Amino acid sequence: MSATKPQLRNDDKAMTAPVYLNGEFLSAQDASISPMDRGFIFGDGVYEVIPLFGGRLFRLAQHLRRLHNSLAAIGLDNPLTDVQWGGVLQQLGDHAGSEDQYVYLQITRGAAPRNHAFPQNARPTVFAYAQPISYSNAPPAASGVEVITAQDIRWQRCDIKSTSLLAAVMLRQQAAESGAVEAILVRDGLVTEGAASNVFIVLDHTVATPPKGPLILAGITRELILELAQQHGIALVERAIQHSELSVAEEVWIASSTNEIKPVTRIDGTAVGDGAPGALFARMYQHYQDYKHAFREGRAD
Ligand code: PLP
Repeated sequence: MSATKPQLRNDDKAMTAPVYLNGEFLSAQDASISPMDRGFIFGDGVYEVIPLFGGRLFRLAQHLRRLHNSLAAIGLDNPLTDVQWGGVLQQLGDHAGSEDQYVYLQITRGAAPRNHAFPQNARPTVFAYAQPISYSNAPPAASGVEVITAQDIRWQRCDIKSTSLLAAVMLRQQAAESGAVEAILVRDGLVTEGAASNVFIVLDHTVATPPKGPLILAGITRELILELAQQHGIALVERAIQHSELSVAEEVWIASSTNEIKPVTRIDGTAVGDGAPGALFARMYQHYQDYKHAFREGRAD
């Protein structure tokens, strides 16, 4: 028999890693939340997912601004100041070491007798944890990913990063059952976004992405892509994208914090462009990686 200590599987690690719950750091298995919590009963809460690269919280200010907007939209006070958030999230990240990881944070309206309208005196539940980003499951950026298109069956306030994710869960499952990684959503003939990503197309050598508004989440990666395009002279416009443009686009990309930027090479079983990641994707991907590298080394914010 081997004398070596058994390695913890990632699932086991997730159960013993420290989490933050209502002001305390404790192990996930010791953390408990009331079954009457409105997050559990109604999905009444908001969340953020923030990467840590080289142990540094990536685009923290932007994520905290979006958190503030989500909380304001659902009538909840922010339970922590930005400085306190930074401290809590950094402490979770520091514990997990310097590999790439993300922190998840969630605030719900707290435990209260079941009644849809806001309770008078509930104390919000504040929860956060850190987890490694598993690049191993993700196909390399160079080979491209397959997506499906689906009707956008979500609500009309997709700008709120709400924990009520049932529609997104169903859409991602539909994609998974088709062997695809994402569902690109279409509402009234227009592309909105992915179930958990923003969408970009390239037509006539110009990148286009749907404008911000209540029907999409203002992605932090989307914002960075806009900044990088401007800095590096890549033509990019924010405009409505017709469903029909997906089939004539030279390139299609999806982007999110934990999946970065990925080239879509098949949509509903049909090749995008020549079926390989495009030239503008390669440029933007390199700019993104350069930025990330500079960030790791403390040369970019
Ligand atoms: N749109 C939706 C619906 C999402 O869930 C996400 C991320 O999870 C995004 C867009 C991308 O946002 P970000 O770049 O901030 O991760």
